[in-house]
Amino acid sequence: PKGIALLRNPDYNKGTAFTEEEKDALGIRGLVPPRVHTIQEQMARVLENIRRKPNDLEKYIFLISLQDRNKTLFYRVLLENIEELMPIVYTPTVGEACQEYGHIFRRPRGIFITPDDRGRIVSLLRNWPHKDIRIIVVTDGERILGLGDLGADGMGIPVGKLALYTACAGIHHSRTLPVTLDVGTDNEALLSDPLYIGVRRPRLRGEEYDALVDEFVMAVQHVFPGALIQFEDFANRNAFRLLQRYRHRVCCFNDDMQGTAAVTLAGLYAALRLTGGSLKDQTILFVGAGEAGLGAGELIVSAMIAEGALPEEARSRCWFMDSKGLIVRDRDDLSPHKRAFAHAHPLVADPAEAVASLRPTALIGVSGQPGVFDARVLKAMARVNDRPVVFALSNPTAKAECTAREAYEHTDGRVIFASGSPFEPFEYRGRTVRTGQGNNVYIFPGVGLGVITSGARQVTDEMFFVAAKTLAQMVLPEDLEAGMIFPRLSRIRDVSLRIALAVAHVAYRDGLATVPRPEDLEAHIRSLVYYPDYENYV
Ligand code: NAP
Ligand code: MN
Repeated sequence: PKGIALLRNPDYNKGTAFTEEEKDALGIRGLVPPRVHTIQEQMARVLENIRRKPNDLEKYIFLISLQDRNKTLFYRVLLENIEELMPIVYTPTVGEACQEYGHIFRRPRGIFITPDDRGRIVSLLRNWPHKDIRIIVVTDGERILGLGDLGADGMGIPVGKLALYTACAGIHHSRTLPVTLDVGTDNEALLSDPLYIGVRRPRLRGEEYDALVDEFVMAVQHVFPGALIQFEDFANRNAFRLLQRYRHRVCCFNDDMQGTAAVTLAGLYAALRLTGGSLKDQTILFVGAGEAGLGAGELIVSAMIAEGALPEEARSRCWFMDSKGLIVRDRDDLSPHKRAFAHAHPLVADPAEAVASLRPTALIGVSGQPGVFDARVLKAMARVNDRPVVFALSNPTAKAECTAREAYEHTDGRVIFASGSPFEPFEYRGRTVRTGQGNNVYIFPGVGLGVITSGARQVTDEMFFVAAKTLAQMVLPEDLEAGMIFPRLSRIRDVSLRIALAVAHVAYRDGLATVPRPEDLEAHIRSLVYYPDYENYV
């Protein structure tokens, strides 16, 4: 593009950074201010603007608008200020943005597919301007974070996840595609909101739903062959079935089950670096037995088996509670996925009682229920452990099972804590505590990079297992010392690269790769990583 069209194209626009030569060659002299700024000066301006906004939602709107104007600057600012800006483009603020999506809507992003598009999904995908799509994040908006059914307004989640693929793993944005399967919503407030952006109908269910998803998955194979499909924030009722159906047929994974599982396992490994002992000797109590909890349970069982535990032994060390209480053998209301973790024990409904009885070494919250780790529960964990491990993984912050401060206060500061959404560092007994973010953002960008560089045909549990081990190894002693069981986010690019390398190794070793093995795998992956900087156009 040239002239005014260039300035309006976010893929090429440089704002005030066009050089004097470019101004003449591209026909934009006079259309931009005289002064030429460096990208560093532009970043300073962006940060000044963001910090001036009165609240986080306004910061989100500003950043998304920057993404609409100048992608290079957007990704550069995000990459270089990831600790400050991740909570804006991702959890928790992205949750608020999805709740307000129709009201703050500016420009469309990604592709929306509705039940009326049956029979023409291929042509919808072909409408996308970029042809070399390698990663697709798709949602149907039914379980957005812990916020429930947000229908088409859930599009903020695929958009945010993909921004992190670019910022955290350097996958070029033109190779990513956010998709929302807008199959309707059962959220009455949205259906009666005149500014709602989605189809006004109750959710499609049953065979018609499956047929729509199937047409989408097959259309992807046709239009973007081999692209990685990441299923994100589907409700429990569909998530297990869809993963089961597609995981051995196409290149896909479910982030809420598999990505979360890997970050949870990594957190446990890192915690063990503080407490000593081995994974197979831990007793783990999950509060929440959905996608995240059961996914983590299955990966932890495989990891215990890899350490030499017998399958039954490993399973017996993982306990679950759902909305009805402890998952025990006598219950007759259990799905097969839950039944796999039903052990002999009286039914207990109170988590504090369950902790007292089972004496878990780790307590993991994946329930979406704020406050379930109350003082009684945390004190019970502190009574049975020197260093109780407590993860409050539910998102966004308002859904966390407890806050970081509560976890410290009710365990005399002995807790090893992580949360799904970030908590600000705080003062506790004269020292600054900085807790880690147990979030799949540490996993999916690296897994995605490893999968696409090797051209893996499938995404396997083994890949998530090596991703977890790699992540845990990257936690520095000084991080652990300060209470952080995950690496600082400022190291996320390095973390993602190491994970990508481990994942690609698995792909080559297990015969899943379709790209010939390069001489030097690490150098090859590094060469594919995108660093946002302006190109010279003349
Ligand atoms: P899900 O499949 O709907 O599962 C939720 C589970 O919580 C269900 O088993 C439900 O019980 C249980 N539950 C509800 N109320 C409960 C209570 N009072 N006590 C105990 N259990 C209760 O959802 P999900 O996909 O697993 O996600 C759950 C949460 O994890 C969400 O808030 C999400 O944001 C968070 N998450 C975090 C990450 C991360 O990276 N940190 C990643 C994914 C998800 P029933 O089975 O009886 O309904
Ligand atoms: Mn999710």
